Amino acid sequence: MTRFKELQPSQRTIMTPGPVEVDPRVLRAMSTSILGQFDHEFTSIMNETMDRLRNVLQTDNHWAYPIDGTSRSGIEAVLCSLIEEGDKVLVPCFGRFGHLLTEIAERCGAEVHVIECEWGEVFDPEQVIKEMHRIEPKIVAIVHGETSTGRMQPLKEIGYACREMNVLLVVDAVATVGGTDVKTDEWCIDALITGTQKCISVPAGMAPITYNERVESILLERKSIEKGLVPSKDFINRKQDRRIRSNYFDLSQIQDYWSPARLNHHTEATSMLYALYEGLRIILEEGLEQRILRHKLNQKALVAGVKAMGLSLFGNDQCKLPMVTCINIPHEVNGDSVRSMMLDEFSIEIASSFGPLHGQIWRIGTMGYSSQKKNILQTLSALEAVLIRHQVKVYTGEGVQAALDVYNESHKPFEAIS
Ligand SMILES: *Cc1c(COP(=O)(O)O)cnc(C)c1O
Repeated sequence: MTRFKELQPSQRTIMTPGPVEVDPRVLRAMSTSILGQFDHEFTSIMNETMDRLRNVLQTDNHWAYPIDGTSRSGIEAVLCSLIEEGDKVLVPCFGRFGHLLTEIAERCGAEVHVIECEWGEVFDPEQVIKEMHRIEPKIVAIVHGETSTGRMQPLKEIGYACREMNVLLVVDAVATVGGTDVKTDEWCIDALITGTQKCISVPAGMAPITYNERVESILLERKSIEKGLVPSKDFINRKQDRRIRSNYFDLSQIQDYWSPARLNHHTEATSMLYALYEGLRIILEEGLEQRILRHKLNQKALVAGVKAMGLSLFGNDQCKLPMVTCINIPHEVNGDSVRSMMLDEFSIEIASSFGPLHGQIWRIGTMGYSSQKKNILQTLSALEAVLIRHQVKVYTGEGVQAALDVYNESHKPFEAIS
């Protein structure tokens, strides 16, 4: 009878930097009927999604639509559509995802210049600008919220400098959109990539992107049309030498699919689009500003609780990412053993980290639907209990009390998302 076991995932409290918990409304949206991809009902949903994305991404750009694939598919689509062999790309790297930008740009054939800073820090914008003068890149590619180290890079000055020097600014805002301010237009970001499974709080599987005319003009120079879609025999695809190397990630073709022409590229991921549509609706109903305040408050309560327990935080406090909290693992304890016990006994998942920080820090995410008062209080209680079980000395009872104090002090009491 157990040969074809039914799918029965446990109800978890997910306190990681993604994937995070999802509002039941999003799950319901995903179970609604499939529509054909050229059905006017479906194309209306596509258009409406673009509109909602412009809102959430704080942009007047015409182009704002999802790439089908996880967040890195959006990064790959933007970079491979812009980069031609030998183009100079500057990557200021302050964690794992800066290395990802570097790798993708290299694979696209760019001459990549990397500047690095210590993990746990971010760049002084002046340092980046100085490097831009030295290298004169075509593109600066940078992460906004680096989830691996829990830091957030200020972008405004870098954006202004890029615009002044006619350099394209490409930003990985996968972790930050929907949880803190990301001002695409105001900060002069030319192309921005985000993801669904972080603060947008939709399952993994899409990468919303937006870009402006500066980017579009390059796409149009490199544009080609799939042979089987060419309308007349006389049409000749020019510029084959500059053609974008990837078919799946060719933004010049994908944007035609998202335009009134609906020139077919891939088949849009129907149920994922429903999820994104509903997820964006939830964000706009809550209000971006309110949502950002909620993320801030829950972070504040978590931080207060962790410190009151006697634990210390990793990284420079001045540039802390408001939806990821990094905790130094006490020397006497095995970090993975604590995480396993949190999951097995309390059904709460927290994260470890990558590369040089593996085994050094725990990362607690407070993103999207997971950023709730009840989750913060439960995580603090569970962490305390598990640490005591591991013979770590903590200030018993203090963590939850400190978090409750933060909630009491805040003017508006935040309940679970209503
Ligand atoms: C999670 C994350 C990614 C990669 O996301 P995938 O959806 O796993 O491809 C990229 N950049 C940042 C900053 C992230 O936090």
